[in-house]
Amino acid sequence: MAIEDDVLVIGGGLAGVTAALAAADEGTQVRLVTYKQSTLRHASGLIDVLGYTPDGEGPIVDPFDELEELPEGHPYERVGVDAVRDALEFFDDVVGDAYAGGHTDDNALVPTHGGTVKPTARYPSATAAGVASAPEDTLLVGFETLPDFEAPLAAAHLEAAGAPFEARGVTITFPGIKRDDAKVTRYAHLLDWDESVDGTTGARDALAAAVSDHLEDESRVGFPAVLGDDHPEEVRADLEDALGVEVFEVPMGPPSLPGMRLEDVLYSALEEKGVRVTSGVPVVDYETNGDPGRIDQVIVDRNGADVPHHADQYILATGGLVGKGVSSEREGVFEPLFDCYVPHAADRYDWFVDDVFGDQPYARFGVVPDTELRPLDEDDEPEFSNLRAVGGVLGGYDYAAEKSGGGVSLSTGYVAGKRAAKQVGE
Ligand SMILES: Cc1cc2nc3c(=O)[nH]c(=O)nc-3n(C[C@H](O)[C@H](O)[C@H](O)COP(=O)(O)OP(=O)(O)OC[C@H]3O[C@@H](n4cnc5c(N)ncnc54)[C@H](O)[C@@H]3O)c2cc1C
Repeated sequence: MAIEDDVLVIGGGLAGVTAALAAADEGTQVRLVTYKQSTLRHASGLIDVLGYTPDGEGPIVDPFDELEELPEGHPYERVGVDAVRDALEFFDDVVGDAYAGGHTDDNALVPTHGGTVKPTARYPSATAAGVASAPEDTLLVGFETLPDFEAPLAAAHLEAAGAPFEARGVTITFPGIKRDDAKVTRYAHLLDWDESVDGTTGARDALAAAVSDHLEDESRVGFPAVLGDDHPEEVRADLEDALGVEVFEVPMGPPSLPGMRLEDVLYSALEEKGVRVTSGVPVVDYETNGDPGRIDQVIVDRNGADVPHHADQYILATGGLVGKGVSSEREGVFEPLFDCYVPHAADRYDWFVDDVFGDQPYARFGVVPDTELRPLDEDDEPEFSNLRAVGGVLGGYDYAAEKSGGGVSLSTGYVAGKRAAKQVGE
């Protein structure tokens, strides 16, 4: 007997969660099945809509000025500009005060741990005081045991990039941490619980004291994104009180605390909306019941037992080459679950170019959707009438070069969720 739902989403990253929330918002019964950790926990926590054009022009000030110019087949062209705006509004409603950037269409320039500035549309509130367009002199603080963030170097890069403020960087000891293999969560939890670091002083006061020795005329202090996991606002507020200046976080590479916090907010929203989440198990197969153009049920591998799940509508949100939603072997590139068509050159030496930072064909590998986001076969016909695809599994865009990953996942997830829900029972 198959487990029944109206809409079944496969994949629990930003795209899948958005699709599930949007479908549940329409009153349908939704299930999300996800296998391994998504890129949410690895990504910076920033939501990029469009930082650079496909030709590399940018940084873009207002992404909405460029969306209409994108080539046919780009996911934003498939869903349309209004859908991008609606999806961002939907995201703002879901995450509330945890994020900023919704007050304008313009990208914000956010300092990164490498000392570059990144154009992004939505950023954690913890990062807001560090936006590079604000002409506030800045002290960046790094920790000896966290070599991923070289504060003096990052500050020098910011100045070299022409930031409208003075930036200085210092490297200090993080109170209570001696080893350089401590997880970012260890820093965060020391601050969350204000654990004593020397028998009397709490971690927050100890950190503030260590920083205040270096503070000169700066009006804001930037730290690597480790300022609390469960109580980030409180940690930041206490540091601001103690230092008397604004405090912000600089997004880091994986593992990313802002990414983990975003995942927590999104999964709490799934629970609130009554979405059934089945995690840690893969969808391994599907069946059609007499109509090859319509998915009847999918098979979930639960520790070796094949469990059938039936839904009216299905959403493929399995990610790109990173999430294994798109796979490659010597013979070709393919979508492993439904075998949807993935256009690519016959010769695998044409899948890449020698210049690592060049325009890489593989970065755009993925399924080709129609304007309903249904994957198309080689004859431009929908592979299945009740299957849509979203996020990283889609082709036609290079999210790393364009800085468009989160925006595409939100927009296509939102559209697919809404449309799938409206189609239930048709
Ligand atoms: C290191 C890194 C940094 C990034 N930084 C940014 C950034 O700063 N800004 C930005 O906007 N974007 C960024 N991105 C891109 C962005 O975060 C996402 O990768 C993108 O939005 C795609 O998300 P997704 O939900 O489609 O896929 P994923 O996040 O890859 O999630 C896919 C999920 O599907 C699951 N899955 C796969 N196959 C199956 C199956 N058969 N059954 C069940 N589950 C399955 C996977 O286990 C995974 O959990 C970054 C990505 C990476 C990797």
